[in-house]
Amino acid sequence: MSVQSSPATDKAVARALKDVAARIDSAVKRSGRTQPVRLVAVSKTKPAGAIQEAYDAGHRDFGENYVQELLDKAPLLPGDIRWHFIGHLQSNKARALLEGVPGLACVQTVDSAKLADRLNRIATDLQRQQKLGVMLQVNTSGEESKYGCAPGEVVGLAQHIAGACPALQLAGLMTIGMPDYSSRPENFTCLVECRAQVAAALGVSADSLELSMGMSGDFEQAVEMGSTNVRVGSTIFGARNYSK
Ligand SMILES: *Cc1c(COP(=O)(O)O)cnc(C)c1O
Repeated sequence: MSVQSSPATDKAVARALKDVAARIDSAVKRSGRTQPVRLVAVSKTKPAGAIQEAYDAGHRDFGENYVQELLDKAPLLPGDIRWHFIGHLQSNKARALLEGVPGLACVQTVDSAKLADRLNRIATDLQRQQKLGVMLQVNTSGEESKYGCAPGEVVGLAQHIAGACPALQLAGLMTIGMPDYSSRPENFTCLVECRAQVAAALGVSADSLELSMGMSGDFEQAVEMGSTNVRVGSTIFGARNYSK
């Protein structure tokens, strides 16, 4: 199935994508690293047509926050899109998500053993060709938040996934930053530190674990501080309108 893209915004999305990619490249150079950084285009609240425009410009990694919205949009779009789930995932919606989105590459917001076990069970039931990627969401702000595990819980959760969830691939760690979705350098430093602890505990190199940090307002800084996966929405697709 194909979705018609609207000519009016077509160039805008393609241009914005190119611009963000160039800014990421410059930040990678400043960081002195060589590993590529994945740009996840965050398309929540945006129509399938806007995603198709980005796809037509060559983009393949997209992030969505809401299960029902993704279930509605994914079937309208090409099957080789790599979907990243970046919203809070309730255990009772996990089956619908995995069944309805075969192209789901990664759930970036795993913050409990219960959710990991649930995803592992469902991924096993579905006999997925590839393991389901997961990232551990860490609350790096030190402030009360319903989502993300505490930095002190990350190692235990990582060990649980590595040891007891064979259908999952621990891809890395993710943070949003502050409860208001802004972030401070301390948030990024905290995630880097958590990764070092997880890598040591699992006996793997830190480079084998990704860091998902950085959004429209701070993705360049995040890349300079080690991010390998930035999640950029409004800078690519324009401001979101939640009133509809
Ligand atoms: C919406 C969202 C983003 C993208 O935010 P922008 O500021 O629009 O780039 C990134 N990460 C998460 C978890 C989000 O919910």
